[in-house]
Amino acid sequence: MLKGSIYRFLTANFEPIEMSMMRSLMMINSFLLIGVLAFSTFAYTNLVIFHSYFIGTLDTAAAIISFSALIDLQVNKKLNRTVYIGTANFFFFFITFSYTNQNSDFGLIWTIFFPIFVITLMGHKKGLALTSFFYLILFSMAFYHIGIWDEGRWNIRSFLRFSIASIVLTYVVYVYEMAIARANETLAEVRKKEAIYLTELERLSSTDPLTGLYNRRQMDEILENHFEEAKRYSTPFTLIMFDIDNFKLINDTYGHNIGDEVLTTIADITHSILRKTDHFARWGGEEFLILASMTTSIDALVLAEKIREKIQETIFPLDITVSCSFGVTLCNPSLDIYTLIDQADTALYRAKGEGKNRVCEYHGERINA
Ligand code: GH3
Ligand code: MG
Ligand code: MG
Repeated sequence: MLKGSIYRFLTANFEPIEMSMMRSLMMINSFLLIGVLAFSTFAYTNLVIFHSYFIGTLDTAAAIISFSALIDLQVNKKLNRTVYIGTANFFFFFITFSYTNQNSDFGLIWTIFFPIFVITLMGHKKGLALTSFFYLILFSMAFYHIGIWDEGRWNIRSFLRFSIASIVLTYVVYVYEMAIARANETLAEVRKKEAIYLTELERLSSTDPLTGLYNRRQMDEILENHFEEAKRYSTPFTLIMFDIDNFKLINDTYGHNIGDEVLTTIADITHSILRKTDHFARWGGEEFLILASMTTSIDALVLAEKIREKIQETIFPLDITVSCSFGVTLCNPSLDIYTLIDQADTALYRAKGEGKNRVCEYHGERINA
């Protein structure tokens, strides 16, 4: 419960969240929270106990800015804006504080948080540039005040110790951040490839490689979903199942490749006649299934007839002509989708029996086992 609320606070309730963004969010929220607590404690001690009014006022201003940035992030969720406000706040605070504090009681130690803050939040390149600028000012100031700061105790050795330690720390944070950035880049590339493979995999598993139509597996899913939807909203739809007549003869006479060409041409012809809202699949070897949505059986009979005529009129390679037989059935919401498919199949079977190259509608005859 507590863990959940801390997590929600640190991520400012962002949803959905990327991995690198989540890290930045948790970092900035933690920094700002520590900033608010530390700055207000220092403000209190400096103002009330030590009567250091200038530093006390600085602390108060830094505490107020950190607090406002924290609230702003929780409410408005503009991560970049908060990072800029936080950076500017820390930048001006540390420079002014160091100048005023003059390293009395190791005051300069606080500046180590600046490179950690900017490099982790702005990225290694921008962060390093800003840290260099920050140290240019700070080191110049510290160098200029050798023999003056800390009541004269700030000497060349203190200066070198402080500046070298700060540079080493900056270097470590920089390398660490660069490694994370590289790892994120690699991860992003892997993700991109994965997404491409996944799309391709979905395409391969849902379509027939020869005709590019939906395969039976995909059509099964579409049929089930469409059936449920049609039942709920009482919308009509019809199934048209058709099969190429004497296709074995075409294969046997002209070869399998020509047979394949006939299949793809029939798929293309039918596809060009159907509406965008219809679904069309290769149901079996030379058998196709159409789900004509928002279509009554009269319209479906007209549609099937149109497809039948168009196929019959088409001259295929080697001057072959081909015909198809069609079975049509209207959706009956009291049945299930598999019974409807059987009905379309039964109607198709009758079309074959009555001499092929025709359209038959299901009339309640017994379904063939
Ligand atoms: P009917 O008019 O009764 O439907 O007879 P038919 O010859 O069309 O039916 P049959 O079931 O006897 O033969 C279907 C043929 O379809 C046999 C099979 O080799 C062929 N076939 C199935 N899939 C493919 C394919 O992908 N490419 C080719 N070229 N032929 C295929
Ligand atoms: Mg056939
Ligand atoms: Mg067949």
